[in-house]
Amino acid sequence: MKTHPAGRKLFAHAFGCQMSAADVAEMSGALAKRGFALTSELDEADAVLVGTCTVRDHAEHRALSYIGRLREWKTSHPEGAIIVAGCAAERIGGGELKRRFPHVDLVAGSKSVESFPSIVDSFLSKRAPAEPKTSPAVSASGISATLTIMRGCDAACSYCIVPSVRGPESHRPAGEILGEARLKAEAGAREFTLLGQAVNGWHGAFEGRPAGFGDLLGLVASVPGVERVRFMSPHPLRFDETVARAMAEHPKVVPALHLPAQSGSDRILALMRRGYDRASYLATVAMARRLLPGLTVTTDILLGFPTETEADFADSLSLLSEMGAVSAFCFKYSPRQGTPSSLLCDDVPREVKEERLVLLHALVAELSAAYLDSLVGREVSVLVDEPGTGRAADGFRVRLDEPVLPGRVVSAVVSGRAGNILMAHIPRRKA
Ligand code: SF4
Repeated sequence: MKTHPAGRKLFAHAFGCQMSAADVAEMSGALAKRGFALTSELDEADAVLVGTCTVRDHAEHRALSYIGRLREWKTSHPEGAIIVAGCAAERIGGGELKRRFPHVDLVAGSKSVESFPSIVDSFLSKRAPAEPKTSPAVSASGISATLTIMRGCDAACSYCIVPSVRGPESHRPAGEILGEARLKAEAGAREFTLLGQAVNGWHGAFEGRPAGFGDLLGLVASVPGVERVRFMSPHPLRFDETVARAMAEHPKVVPALHLPAQSGSDRILALMRRGYDRASYLATVAMARRLLPGLTVTTDILLGFPTETEADFADSLSLLSEMGAVSAFCFKYSPRQGTPSSLLCDDVPREVKEERLVLLHALVAELSAAYLDSLVGREVSVLVDEPGTGRAADGFRVRLDEPVLPGRVVSAVVSGRAGNILMAHIPRRKA
């Protein structure tokens, strides 16, 4: 590895969920403060940071096979450093990972994100003479930025490995979150997504008074430069009127709610230990719609959970229509070692899971298309993040008829769609 900090480059890649991406962004920021400039070219990198995810079997396998392939990179870059981070690293453990992949230099699991700066200082001091640190810099965050507001999870969904790899909930202080939001807004970020495993469980204090998640939404929305605030993912049990009212009070908080249901079957929800049933989930959606006119709702569905019958699956399909979802992320169940559900027989055959996934995707495509078609002729607000294209408040992409510069929020009239991308023009206002 080069010893001059200004000459070092970092290639960072995150597998899996948004938390994994946010952790990699935070760790890349720590490395940037130690003189590493980001590069998109693996070949020119002096260090590679891999964010792993273990929430789903598939994401973990992809990350591990990528780490395996880095052996070749290490051969051509013997001085280079490979750092493996994230939930799969936490689950597997540093010792086992290094045994399987001897070319890995440093393992920092998901419980080490906050202590990563000192871990990396100690690591770098062993590899090279002490080096001056560059002045703190905010990593280029683009128009959209994430803010991790809490880590870990206190829920106990029977299929989920997160509580064991990320530990119990810890909530970042409001001042720290707002400080990060200000820095990122000064660097040009306009849209902020507040991240946490059950993000609406955040609580803390602000100016000596207790503050809840709804208060935090308002505080982030008030940071100068912030145009939009989103959050991901709330737990239905904790989504109450306080949060919905806070969303309604702050126009910069988008009227879009991603509320993971996981299943529409009461029997499966009980086995999943989600803590709610279909009726209470639908009541929560109805409450949010009542307080937030024009709200769009999306969800997650986990299909093929042990013992899921055709009737249970039909309940998930009908839930999507009944709740009026405009989109959904759909996943096939795979047992995660050490979780309560891994003790159940994974008895839904692979081909049945595949068939159900196809059916779910077809329904989601239909629901999205119907929603997007309903927007034709209507005005939507677009936050431009690339010349001439951006995102509407509901999260769908919009292509404009003129090359508006990134960072601006414009009103545009929807003229049609290409797949799930809206086409829109900016109306000429009379002087
Ligand atoms: S709420 Fe449930 S699914 Fe989500 S991270 Fe916590 S335990 Fe996992």
